[in-house]
Amino acid sequence: MDIETCIKKLGYVGVLDFATVDEDGAPQVRNISAIHYEGTTLYFLTARGKSFAHQLKRDGRVQILGYTRYKETIRLSGRAVEVSAEEQLKWRNVLYQEQPYLENVYPGETKNIDTMFMLKDYTVEYFCLSTRPITREYFAVGNVEPIRKGYYISESCIGCGTCQTVCPQSCIEEGSPFHIRENHCLQCGNCFENCPVEAIRRY
Ligand code: SF4
Ligand code: SF4
Repeated sequence: MDIETCIKKLGYVGVLDFATVDEDGAPQVRNISAIHYEGTTLYFLTARGKSFAHQLKRDGRVQILGYTRYKETIRLSGRAVEVSAEEQLKWRNVLYQEQPYLENVYPGETKNIDTMFMLKDYTVEYFCLSTRPITREYFAVGNVEPIRKGYYISESCIGCGTCQTVCPQSCIEEGSPFHIRENHCLQCGNCFENCPVEAIRRY
């Protein structure tokens, strides 16, 4: 898997879940289909009066989630910014050409209430449940810190092998210390809970 393929897959999914944080710190999620993909940059549209636009302007954090028919989850996390006034019309026109149904939603001059946001710096989590073992990959696009999640085995490992026997994906290798193949790890925590010497740590 690579980032370009992940983005293409999101395009095929079409309607994605966009989560933001409201003024009370509560999660808010909605479906968005008005998205234009320009390389790895996403341009998306909403109306200036919507809570979605207010949350994006106030906080900016957004998570975008798509799920394919092949049991692949693709999650983007980053900060969206409103497109500059000079570029608004350009990207709005591109989007309306790609998705003519928008003219039905905002006909004529009413589309002037629209505003475009873009996401160009973000992390990507790719997670596929249709392989055995499962597949997990992370990507960083633009100016963001890479993701570190899940579990690793520390030098405190005594090599008893218990973690291997309880791992549902058989993704722990022998060694000194034992080693988790993180690209195949569910991050379920079963090894963590069963290690007799607490050698397994969360990142
Ligand atoms: S259960 Fe703990 S001590 Fe035993 S092999 Fe696994 S990590 Fe090492
Ligand atoms: S977290 Fe779960 S899947 Fe990952 S190595 Fe531990 S037991 Fe296996």
